[in-house]
Formats: sequence, structure tokens, C-alpha cells
Amino acid sequence: MLALRRVLVPGFAVAIIVALVVACIRRLRRASDPSKEQLRQGGYETLAADTPQTTMGAKGSHETRSLVGLPQEILLNVLAMLDHKGLTRVEATTKITRALDVDKLWYTLTERALSRKSGRFSVARWQARFPDASWKLRFMHIDSENKRRNITEAELSEGSDQSLRWLFNFKPAAGGASTATIQEGRFVSEEREDAQGSLHMQGYPPLPYKLVDHLCSICAQPATQKCSRCRRVWYCSRQCQRAAWKEHKDECAVLAQLGETGSSQAAAAAAEPQCLKIANFPNHFVKRLQNWEWIIENDNVVLMSFPSDAEIPERHSPEYDERYEELFRDHPMLRLLVVPTTGAQLFL
Ligand SMILES: [Zn+2]
Ligand SMILES: [Zn+2]
Repeated sequence: MLALRRVLVPGFAVAIIVALVVACIRRLRRASDPSKEQLRQGGYETLAADTPQTTMGAKGSHETRSLVGLPQEILLNVLAMLDHKGLTRVEATTKITRALDVDKLWYTLTERALSRKSGRFSVARWQARFPDASWKLRFMHIDSENKRRNITEAELSEGSDQSLRWLFNFKPAAGGASTATIQEGRFVSEEREDAQGSLHMQGYPPLPYKLVDHLCSICAQPATQKCSRCRRVWYCSRQCQRAAWKEHKDECAVLAQLGETGSSQAAAAAAEPQCLKIANFPNHFVKRLQNWEWIIENDNVVLMSFPSDAEIPERHSPEYDERYEELFRDHPMLRLLVVPTTGAQLFL
């Protein structure tokens, strides 16, 4: 019942708004009564535009002119109540938006979407990233970005314009119950090698890392090949695949059938989180927070990308302890490094 309501309510809202908008146009058309020729030449567009006088001609009566002033503003206000799906639908099903500055609405939607993200994400940044794009297109990029669960090597490691900064801490169970054990970690990627390099932290030798999208289902090492039949289960080697076959056989037949439907494929992909291998430590799993920052963690340690609005003091500066304590107390995001990340709502 609840699910039904969730589907029906937005549907109704869109239907009502579309009906309103269409009624508005009808009224407008009746009032202005443009000839067929005027309509064909885009008379309606001119009507709703800022300079309406030309096609209105002799019929530009007092009544018409007052209507001419209204629609842009009213229609934009009505359309501003829609979410991106509703707005897309109105754009696809009616012609009214052609005359309006709808991109203004896409800008608003973009700003609203990004205001819930951490400090490093802003409309200005997205504008710079796609300098000639419309706000609608930028919004579409943001919408797809919102679904991304895998981090890129460029984000993880130093030296690209997408590089993120990383803070490391031990989990309370491993002796990291305070800010004292927090430090910055630097991922330095290897030239020529994809998604691997070394993690640099004070007090440790460089620790080799490898970012892997799939793990061997037998030995949990980075996997390079998948079962050719079901295309779902990954292995590091022929040996592991052979060792797995007896158990995998029945499951494989079922998975192979499921594989034909796109949605179950997506579900399988979502169920397998990306993983970071660091030296011989147990696997670290990659998760994304609602504010788009990343958490990479296992039972003992946590690495977190940190937002640009959080200025981290130099480790050896005299004011280090005090400022650090203050920062971590006040910044809800950084507090995650001290308090274990248990709240499920924190994650996407
Ligand atoms: Zn293996
Ligand atoms: Zn299989």
C-alpha cells in the first residue's frame, strides 16, 4: 500500500501540473487568437517571449497584453515545483517549455542536488567541468554521478586534477578511539600500471596497494577472469576456477539464466563492492557517503576522502593538537574517523 502510494503520489503531482500548464496555454491561445500562420511561424513562442509586440499586431488589446506579461513567470513557477523527472516529462510531452528559460529551472535543480553534497562539490565546479553545456546536461551528469559506487584511480591517487585527499585512522577495536592516531595518507600510483602503487604514511614503509573491482571468489585476491558461462563469478586463476567448479556448477546454471535480464545484472554489480588491497592486510571495501565522499575500510582501519571545506592542520605545527581536536569535534564528517561508521543512513 505504501509502495503504491509512493508511485501514485508523484504521478498525480506531475499529471496535475501538466494539466495546469496545458490549461494555461489554452487560455493564452484563446486570448491571443493567433492565426494558423502565426502559430506555424512560432507565434506562440513570440507571445511568451519578452518582446511580444510583433505578432500580436492589431490584436494586441489591453486584455492580451496583460496575459502576455504573465505566462513566463507563472509557468516557470509552476514548473519549478517539479523534480527532474517531472520536468523532463513536461519538456518531452508539451511544447510550452520551448518559449521559456527552462535551463534556469535546471540550474535550480542542480544547485539543490549539490547543496546536499560536501564542500568540494558546487555548481561552479560543474560549470567549469562542462563549460559549454546547458544546466540540463550538467544535471544529467550529476544524476549519473549520484549512482556511481566505484572510485576511480584518478580520485584515489595523487597528481591529477581529480585527486582527493585522504585521512587514515585505526578503528576503536584496533586502538584508534581518538584523533591522536589520525594522519593523512597519500596514494602514489605507479607509472604504466593501472590502479596500483604505494600508500605513504608516517611511521610506515610505503605499502603497496591495488584497487580492484572484482575479487577471486575462492582466495579473495584480485580477479582477472570471470566464469564464461554465467559471467558473474570472478577468479584470479585457472586453478581457483577449477577448485570452485564442483560447488559453483549448480549456482552457475541459475546465474546464467538470471544474467539475461538487465536488472538482475545491475543488482549483482551493486552487490559486489569495489575493494582496495593494501599490502597483506584484510581487504578494504570502498563505500560512498551520501555527501559523495568515500570511505575505504576493513574491521581495523578506515580511510576517508575529506571535503575541501575542512582545513587539516599540519601535523607538526604547534597548534596541531588543539586545532585538530576542535576540527574533529565540530565537523560531522571528520567525526566518522573517530566514531565507528555504523549508521546505515550514512551510506548511499
Ligand atoms: Zn583465486
Ligand atoms: Zn558460472
